[in-house]
Amino acid sequence: MGRKDCSVNGTLYGTSFGAEQWLVLNKVAIVCASLNVSTHILVFLSLAINFISYSPMAIIIFEFIYVPCLGFALVSLFMTSITDPGAVPMGAWPLERYMPIEIENQNENSQTRNTRHTIEQCEKCEGNYKPPLARHDKISGRCVVKVDHFCPWVCNVIGVFNRKFFILFAFYTFLSSTTALVLLVMRSIHCSYGVGAWIPIIAWNKFNFDHDIVGCKKPSSFSILATHAVVMCVFFSTFVTLLAQYLAVTKGSRRGTNDSELVKTELNEIFGGSSNRFEWHWLLPLTVEFPDEVMEELLGYQIDYFHRDQHWQQNYFAESFNTS
Ligand SMILES: [Zn+2]
Repeated sequence: MGRKDCSVNGTLYGTSFGAEQWLVLNKVAIVCASLNVSTHILVFLSLAINFISYSPMAIIIFEFIYVPCLGFALVSLFMTSITDPGAVPMGAWPLERYMPIEIENQNENSQTRNTRHTIEQCEKCEGNYKPPLARHDKISGRCVVKVDHFCPWVCNVIGVFNRKFFILFAFYTFLSSTTALVLLVMRSIHCSYGVGAWIPIIAWNKFNFDHDIVGCKKPSSFSILATHAVVMCVFFSTFVTLLAQYLAVTKGSRRGTNDSELVKTELNEIFGGSSNRFEWHWLLPLTVEFPDEVMEELLGYQIDYFHRDQHWQQNYFAESFNTS
């Protein structure tokens, strides 16, 4: 595990320092993400073919609520997967306020020399500078700013730049699966299965029964049962994901494995913008834009354009500092 790349049509995809397009090339995660997309498409097809044709109301709910939610969910999923989550680039160097004071005060009285912040460097990232809010992710092989977790279902680490997409993916999947449940219940009632019949196990025998009502004869009971089961799994798993994200935001989360301190996350540190007040762009899977001051505080590094190909070293900074 770690940094991997592959070149397709001259573009380098992967998670190495030289990759042009971010992509986690982990086999298990690629399989899980493909299953995720396939599930959405199969539920869509099953609903379209089996569950709506009997009623104009069901068709309206499907076309105007389910399909838009599914569309937003899939775009958000795609953006979560291909967005660099906030990997620290080679040549990153500490913000001035994180610099050891002994460099800043090198010409002054030696009594004042002291370090106010330990500069961390990551051995697994070739000694690259590791900002205060970054943590090394072993699957992508990179230090990522504000790592939440690695999610195989989206085939990416969730970090500062894609957490919005991840939450939107869970949010729109939750809405689409709720709408799908409504469609399943509507059909159950229409087909005289009874209100409780949408619970698959109870309904098993009833689904095997051939009804005379239009739209109820086909398809086979297995595909109906499978659709019910999958929709309910998606509904509960996205509900739990959203609840976990809500708790992490409101109660704060640990920024590192050895760190006991809970770091509070402001909403605009996830969704972008300058304030914590809700803005409509939060609901759209558009790239997160942070104001400069928020961005600097979040990332905790700046780029040393003179040394892009090598990691930060204290003496490089001393040279740059003396010449500027
Ligand atoms: Zn690292």
